[in-house]
Amino acid sequence: MTDVVTSTPEDSTDHNGAHLAPTGQTRSGMTADALRAAVSDHLIYSIARPPAVLTPEHYYKALSLAVRDRMQKRWMATTQDWLDLSCKVTCYLSAEFLMGPQLGNNLLNLGIEAQARQALADLGQDLDVILDCEGEPGLGNGGLGRLAACYLDSMATLERPSIGYGIRYEFGIFKQELADGWQVEKTDNWLVHGNPWEIDKPDAAYTVNWGGHTETYEDVTGRFRVRWVPQRVLKGVSYDTPVQGYGVNTCNTLTLWSARAVESFALDAFNTGDFYKAVDEEVVSETVSKVLYPNDEPEAGKRLRLLQQYFFVTCSLQDILNIHLQRAHLPLSALPDKWAIQLNDTHPSIAVAELMRLLIDEYQLSWDAAWDLTVRTFGYTNHTLLPEALETWPLRIFGEALPRHLELIYEINERFLEQVRERFPGDEDRVGRMSLIGEDDGKCVRMAHLATVGSHTVNGVAALHSELLKASVLKDFYEMWPERFGNVTNGVTPRRFLALANPGLRELLDDTIGPGWITDLGRLRGLESFVDDPAFRQRWRDVKRANKSRLAEYVHATTGIELDPTWMFDVQVKRIHEYKRQHLMVLHIIALYHRLKTNPGLSVPPRVFIFGGKAAPGYFMAKRIIRLITAVGATVNNDPDVNRCLKVVFLPNFNVKNAHLVYPAANLSEQISTAGKEASGTGNMKFMINGALTIGTLDGANVEIRQEAGAENFFLFGLTEGQVEKVKAEGYRPLSYVESDPELAAVLELIARGEFTHGDTEVLRPIVDNLIHHDPFLALADYRSYVDCQDEVSRAWLDRDTWSRMSIRNTARSGKFSSDRAIKEYCDEIWGVGPMSVDL
Ligand SMILES: *Cc1c(COP(=O)(O)O)cnc(C)c1O
Repeated sequence: MTDVVTSTPEDSTDHNGAHLAPTGQTRSGMTADALRAAVSDHLIYSIARPPAVLTPEHYYKALSLAVRDRMQKRWMATTQDWLDLSCKVTCYLSAEFLMGPQLGNNLLNLGIEAQARQALADLGQDLDVILDCEGEPGLGNGGLGRLAACYLDSMATLERPSIGYGIRYEFGIFKQELADGWQVEKTDNWLVHGNPWEIDKPDAAYTVNWGGHTETYEDVTGRFRVRWVPQRVLKGVSYDTPVQGYGVNTCNTLTLWSARAVESFALDAFNTGDFYKAVDEEVVSETVSKVLYPNDEPEAGKRLRLLQQYFFVTCSLQDILNIHLQRAHLPLSALPDKWAIQLNDTHPSIAVAELMRLLIDEYQLSWDAAWDLTVRTFGYTNHTLLPEALETWPLRIFGEALPRHLELIYEINERFLEQVRERFPGDEDRVGRMSLIGEDDGKCVRMAHLATVGSHTVNGVAALHSELLKASVLKDFYEMWPERFGNVTNGVTPRRFLALANPGLRELLDDTIGPGWITDLGRLRGLESFVDDPAFRQRWRDVKRANKSRLAEYVHATTGIELDPTWMFDVQVKRIHEYKRQHLMVLHIIALYHRLKTNPGLSVPPRVFIFGGKAAPGYFMAKRIIRLITAVGATVNNDPDVNRCLKVVFLPNFNVKNAHLVYPAANLSEQISTAGKEASGTGNMKFMINGALTIGTLDGANVEIRQEAGAENFFLFGLTEGQVEKVKAEGYRPLSYVESDPELAAVLELIARGEFTHGDTEVLRPIVDNLIHHDPFLALADYRSYVDCQDEVSRAWLDRDTWSRMSIRNTARSGKFSSDRAIKEYCDEIWGVGPMSVDL
C-alpha cells in the first residue's frame, strides 16, 4: 500500500486498510489516493456490503458512483452557467440514445483512467475486470440511437450547452441469442442491477394527457378557445444522466422520461373501493415507457408507439418552457433565441403540433405568433428515404389518441396548402402530394411533412442522401423552400471509437503525432508522413494484430470458434436488413466455397468472415438471412477442404460494448448496401478511423469516405444510385443475371439443394426464391461486380506493405468523420449555438 503523502490528521483508515483522502477530497479529488478513498467510502455508505462478500460488481458500482461524484460539480456549474448567462441551448429530441457503457468513457473524458487503475490496484482489483461488469443500456436500435449518443459527447466536448431528451425504456433492445442457428430474442432487463449514472428527479414531473375529446369555450376576454378533455392522464418523471465533455468542465445532461400513474386517479378509484382498478391504471400508465420498439417491424403495436412519442415530446417541451420562463423571466417571444430543438428523425415530430398546443391553449398566444416561434425553434433531420420507413399514422388512431393535435394539424395544413396554391396556382396534384394528410392507404398523418413544414431547416445525413432527399421524397418541399434544405454528414466520436475502443492505436498515435487528435481529428493527417517508414508500418500492423487477437479471444469465448489473427478479418456488423445486403456477402463466401470444392488445390488468401447484428423480431427475411449465415458457417467451419482458408462467424448480440472489440480488429469493412438506400451509415466511419479498408458501393457516406481516402484506397463496386433506378425502371429481371453467370447459378443452386442445411431444401428456399424472382435490393445485379472486387481485395491483401499503406492512409484521412465536425456544422448552420466555457 502506498503512503498518502498528503496525509492530514483528519485522515482515517477504511475497512480495507487503505488511507482515506483528506476530508473534502473524497467526492472531488482526482488523484489515485482520493479515488481509492472514494471507492472505499462508497463500498460502505452506498453499497453497504462487508469486505467478505464484495464482488467485482460491487467495485464497479462504487467506482461508478465515485466517478459520478466527480462529474457532479461540473454538471451543476454547467447548468447554472447557462441558466445565469441565458445563452442558447440545444435540445436534441430522440426516441433513442444508444449510449454504450459509461464508466470507461467518463474516466477517459475526466482524464483519470490511470488514477482509477491505480486506485483499484491498491484495492486488489483490476480496472479491466471492473469495466467489464458494466452492461449495455440498450436504449436504441442501431445507427440512429448511436448517432444521438456520439452527438451528446461532441456537444459536451465542444462546450455547447445542450440537453438530450428521450425515453427511459425499462426494457431496451432485446438481447440476441442463437439457438440451432436461429435468432432468439431475450428481454433486456438492463435496470435489474440498478443504474449508477442516473439521478431521478421525481419533482421534475409533467402531466401527459391522452385520448378524449375537445371542447370550445369563450375565455374571460370573450376569445374563442379550445380545451382538451382527456380520457386518460399519466405523468412523466425525469431521470438525468451527466454527459461529461472530454478535457473540459462542461458536463451536459441527458434527460430520459419514465411514465408513472397519476396518484389522484389511483386515489379516486381507491376511495370508491376499487383498489384493483387503481393498480390496473398504474400498470397501464407505466407500460408507456416499458419497452423499446425494434425498427423495421412490418406493423408494430402502433398505438403504444404513438403514445411513447407523444409522451416524451410533451414532457420535454413542458420542461423547456418551464426552464425558459424561469430563466430571468424571459418572454416566450425569446424562445427561438434561447433554444434550438432538433428532431432526430420523425419520431419526435409530433413536437410541432404539441408546441403549438402549449403556446396557444396553455399560454394563450395567437396562432401567428405561436407558428412563428415554432418554425424558428425546430430543425428536422431526415434519416431515411425508404418509403416503408417514412412514418405515417392512420387518421383514426391519431384522432382518438390526440384529438386536439389532429385539429391543430388540420389547421396547419389548411394554412400551408393555401401557401402552396398561391405559389403554384392550379397545381392540385402538388397540393395533394404535399398535404400533411395522406390519402395513400386510407387517410393518415404524414409525419415527415409535419416535421418539414414546422421546421426552419431540414437536413439529410450525408451529401448523397441530402441530394436524394431534395430530388425524391421532399422534392416538392425543396421547390417551395430551397433555403430550408442543407446537409450535415454524420460523424462518430473519436473518444469512444478510437481512444477507448483502440488503446493500442491511441498510444501509437500519441507517440507519433501527439495527443491533439482526440479533439481535432484532422490532425490524423500527420500520419501521412510515416507511411513510408517501415518501422512505423510494423508498429501499425502490431497494433492491428493485437486487436485481432483480442477479438479472437472474445469470439472463442462466445461461439467456441477459433480464429487465427494472421488471417484477414472481413467484417459486416450492423442491423440485419435486406437493403444492407448481408446476403450478398454470403454469396461471395459460397462462391469461394464452390471454387475450393471444385478445385481443391486452389490458393485463397485466408479470411474469416465476421457478421454481427440483430434482426427485428417480426422481419421474416432478415431472420432467414441470419439462418443462412449460420448454416454456411457451420458447413464451412467444419469442412477441412475449406476451413484451411475460410471461416465464418456470426457474433451474437452485436451492441456498443462488443463493438469496441469489433471495429478496431477489422481489416476489411463491408459497406455493401444498394446504392441510394443507406442514408449515411456510421459503422463505415468507425471502421475507417480504426484503419480498415472499405469495400463498398457509392451509397450514403461511403461516397465521402472514398473522396477523403482517395479512390486508390477504397474498393468500389456496384451500380450507382442512378443506375439502380434505371435498371428498376426498365423492369429488373434477376433471373437474367443467373442465366448469364454460371458461378452465380452454382452458388444459388448450392443453397437451394440443401448443401448447408443437411439436405433440407425448404429452410432457405424463401431467400433463394426471393432473390431469383424479386430481389428488391438488386443483390444479383451487383453480384459479379462485388465478387470481382473481392478478388481484387484478396490480391491487395497478399501485398502486406501496400495494404499497410492503404490502411494508414484511411485512418490519416478519416478526420472529416469526427462527430465534432458534424456538431460544429449543426451549431453554425442550424442551431446558432456557441461555446460556453465553464469555470469551477
Ligand atoms: C455504429 C453502430 C451501428 C450503425 O452501423 P451501420 O453500419 O452504420 O448501420 C449499429 N449498431 C451499433 C452497436 C453501432 O455501434
